[in-house]
Amino acid sequence: MRVDVLSIFPEMFSGFLDASLIGRAQTARRLEIAVHDLREFTDDRHRTVDDVPYGGGGGMVMTAPPWLRAVRALTERPLGERAPGDGAAPRRILMSPQGTPLDDALVRRLAEHSHLLLLCGRYEGIDERVRELVVDEEISIGDYVLSGGELPAMVLIEAISRQIPGVVGLPESVHNDSFREGLLDCPHYTRPPVVEGLEVPEVLLSGNHAAIAAWRHERAVEATREKRPDLYRRWLESRRQGG
Ligand code: SAM
Repeated sequence: MRVDVLSIFPEMFSGFLDASLIGRAQTARRLEIAVHDLREFTDDRHRTVDDVPYGGGGGMVMTAPPWLRAVRALTERPLGERAPGDGAAPRRILMSPQGTPLDDALVRRLAEHSHLLLLCGRYEGIDERVRELVVDEEISIGDYVLSGGELPAMVLIEAISRQIPGVVGLPESVHNDSFREGLLDCPHYTRPPVVEGLEVPEVLLSGNHAAIAAWRHERAVEATREKRPDLYRRWLESRRQGG
């Protein structure tokens, strides 16, 4: 998968892109990420990307022309200039608190695209006409407002990268993750066997794989019922309907 990102703070991505699973996924060429500076698409000496809002009020608004130029340049690159695996035009996603809230189902849907283009706003946001002209969908990482779309873009990239085959070493760790089966994950334990008087549940030391699987399922159900009654109700309902 290829991900292009547009931001006025591309330097925010450097540590994130080099570290851990994301760094390794790029080295292994399972994931290719390019962060572009929106200011490269301005046409004035000061590389201006914002202006005062029509109608007055506080704050600045990001102007449409640099965004339109940038999105079109990255979308309409001739095939020969595109990266390998980058055949399709990118899905153009505006990071926005007004977008569809990100969840596991949306992450999995987005992971099916071979190319994404993420637009990271700043200030009061981006001139509305950019959304109308060159955006396929808006995605929010939650009902709160951050100062920019860079952290939301990193959240999206990290969540999607876990769905790309080979990025997470053991496929079953993704399969058992919270939300996948409509439940939270079960509790996990590692050495030492006793921590301040708290022992590891005995079944996990038994070597009985069927008993361990049953225990993990029961604990996942219990964790979901206690921590996320909304999810638990949905899980019960889907079981009732044979899901
Ligand atoms: N005035 C806008 C509003 O209230 O809808 C918020 C603008 S916010 C300060 C600046 C940028 O941060 C947005 O354009 C968006 O790219 C990003 N952003 C802020 N909160 C976000 C969230 N919850 N999810 C995704 N992007 C977010």
